[in-house]
Amino acid sequence: LADRLQSTIQKLKGKGKVNEADVKEMMREVRLALLEADVNFKVVKTFVNRVSERAVGQEVLKSLTPGQQVVKVVKEELTELMGGEQSKIATASKPPTVVMMVGLQGAGKTTTTGKLANFLRKKHNRKPLLVAADVYRPAAIKQLETLGKQLDMPVFSLGDQVSPVEIAKQAIEHAKQEHHDYVLIDTAGRLHIDENLMDELTQIKELSNPQEIFLVVDAMTGQDAVNVADSFNKQLGLTGVVLTKLDGDTRGGAALSIRSVTDTPIKFIGMGEKLDALEAFHPERMASRILGMGDVLTLIEKAQASVDEEKAKELEQKMKTMSFTFDDFLDQLGQVRKMGPIDELLGMLPGANKIKGLKNVQVDEKQIGHVEAIIQSMTKKEKTNPEIINAGRRKRIAKGSGTSVQEVNRLLKQFEDMKKMMKQMSGMAKSGKKKGMKF
Ligand code: GDP
Ligand code: MG
Repeated sequence: LADRLQSTIQKLKGKGKVNEADVKEMMREVRLALLEADVNFKVVKTFVNRVSERAVGQEVLKSLTPGQQVVKVVKEELTELMGGEQSKIATASKPPTVVMMVGLQGAGKTTTTGKLANFLRKKHNRKPLLVAADVYRPAAIKQLETLGKQLDMPVFSLGDQVSPVEIAKQAIEHAKQEHHDYVLIDTAGRLHIDENLMDELTQIKELSNPQEIFLVVDAMTGQDAVNVADSFNKQLGLTGVVLTKLDGDTRGGAALSIRSVTDTPIKFIGMGEKLDALEAFHPERMASRILGMGDVLTLIEKAQASVDEEKAKELEQKMKTMSFTFDDFLDQLGQVRKMGPIDELLGMLPGANKIKGLKNVQVDEKQIGHVEAIIQSMTKKEKTNPEIINAGRRKRIAKGSGTSVQEVNRLLKQFEDMKKMMKQMSGMAKSGKKKGMKF
């Protein structure tokens, strides 16, 4: 989705004047891009109409930068399509807050239950109780218990001989006694939606009075995810959607259709299998990501979560002022490794998807070790002014670090690219500010 939209946008951005025909042409591309991304056709139609209407309006065509204005309109409407504002998790006025996790088999319910517990503790200082109410799938209870152990959080279970309704009831009692403020119920799924499943979920709902019923859906299933969301919503009444496996879905179509088809907000997105790979869903950031502008805010938030706050600010400042050196690079390398897979982080940088070969980048730990060795073999002057590193110096550095000249060359090139990217990024941030745009 991003690739196709981006090339259209690039064409349009450079234009001094835009006429109705240009807008039409762009809308055709946008329409195709959305359909290719598996966005529901009705949603596409409404979307394109709305954007066209605004784009050929006076405000855009007569403005000084019509190309950018159209892009702005597309971004705003994409944001609107995904719900506009960020939608937060509810809190019961009288604890515990009950959250039911529902969805088809394999969607990621159990994993997301663990991730959500982790999120609530880390971000909101909560004390959740995990509840194993999937008594049908073999080893489902064990799976949740294993997650509980990893998180060092209690899991409530009564084995697989007790009905899920009874489990939910006793779990809530238990949570009250133990002063848990959130109860996360991991329910069973089926391969397809069926009546038995819905009956059981309805019973759990009636008994436990949940503040949230989260549908967990696999983003990779595209249109199907939207259909599943629609039927669950009709039968059960959802309060939110968690879109999982967005790390594997390059098209992002489900994110765009779900909200407008079901009128249910996406509240979280799953970005990987690990327990910290859950993020609050921000429509505006998602729109930026789709438009290929990168997701700087999420990146900085990630940095703040694992790097200490001061360091993150420093990094931000350095990125802005371009005074980033190899010493910082080395320092960051250690911090960055704490944040998660490097390829995932790179994906969030604006323009990163344009750098050749970065898409399939494989970062192995050994390579990082080499990078560290190379930087440590540089002199202080070289680290601050890498442009002085000539052929002779390269040889010396390679020798000193036990690597090869090719590796040294590669690192220098990567560092150069990275600086360019930062320049682009800070440039974007500046021009964004002027126009009152936020990323
Ligand atoms: P359930 O049947 O709905 O409870 O699904 P599970 O929680 O057992 O997850 C099914 C599979 O999807 C597991 O292998 C998970 O590791 C994987 N999974 C869940 N969420 C994500 C995600 O956000 N990204 C990726 N890549 N995998 C995920
Ligand atoms: Mg499960």
